[in-house]
Amino acid sequence: MSGILDGKRVLITGVLLESSIAFHTAKLAQEQGAEIILTAFPRPTLTERVAKKLPKPTKVVELDVSNDEHLGRLSDVVAAELGGLDGIVHSIGFAPQDALGGNFLNTPFESVATAMHVSAFSLKSLTTACLPQMQNGGSVVGLTFDAQYAWPQYDWMGPAKAALESVNRYLARDLGERNIRCNLISAGPIGSMAAKSIPGFEELATVWDSRSPLSWDVKDPEPAGKGVVALLSDWFPKTTGEIVHVDGGLHAIGA
Ligand code: NAD
Repeated sequence: MSGILDGKRVLITGVLLESSIAFHTAKLAQEQGAEIILTAFPRPTLTERVAKKLPKPTKVVELDVSNDEHLGRLSDVVAAELGGLDGIVHSIGFAPQDALGGNFLNTPFESVATAMHVSAFSLKSLTTACLPQMQNGGSVVGLTFDAQYAWPQYDWMGPAKAALESVNRYLARDLGERNIRCNLISAGPIGSMAAKSIPGFEELATVWDSRSPLSWDVKDPEPAGKGVVALLSDWFPKTTGEIVHVDGGLHAIGA
């Protein structure tokens, strides 16, 4: 059976638990014919354990996206394993506890800087680290949480996601001439580790119960993963700098 990622080689970050959007992306990518490599943070052992639940075995490489040494050796590891890349998935977000949960007015810049570095700047650094392996063009896909709005509890992750959305547009501008497309999926709330680290996340998620046109299940990361796989495929050939909402349609509803 042919898949929409047949013959594609994809690097996927962010597989931590089965609740990770990246885990479902990796599973769907393999089912659709891709060869993948996973990166792991904070420890390869955690990601390796979860990777055993994927349809096919896959190499796992340690990558702290704020560590220049890790980024520096990534290209060689990818070359040795896959011989090149057609896609990159950035599924990484982090903000220190004092940058979340209603502490917006008191967060020190140090914590804001960490959130920005790991959650936004890293889309650029991950992409440029992998660039030598993307000789035939390709697709870079990241994950955002709609940064047009101020959300309860989300605090400095909001400006970090706004920065990520802007970084995506600048990457699209600069990489278009290499036929590399850069896009984001704007996902609705999913009860992953990243979400659970936001105090009051459940309160945020209840907005979807009352306002989302399509029913939304916070326990199901698969729709977001399907969106990522679609953007990795050849079926969005002239789309770049875009943000595709996989949020049940909530972004379209005023009240
Ligand atoms: P998750 O906790 O499963 O994934 C977050 C990942 O970020 C983890 O795998 C973690 O290892 C990785 N990470 C954190 N710091 C890192 C670092 N320094 N270097 C490398 N990796 C690092 O949660 P998730 O919900 O699957 O999150 C994936 C992406 O989706 C994030 O960008 C998140 O902001 C975004 N997103 C999540 C939701 C949601 O409600 N869960 C909604 C919209 C967008």
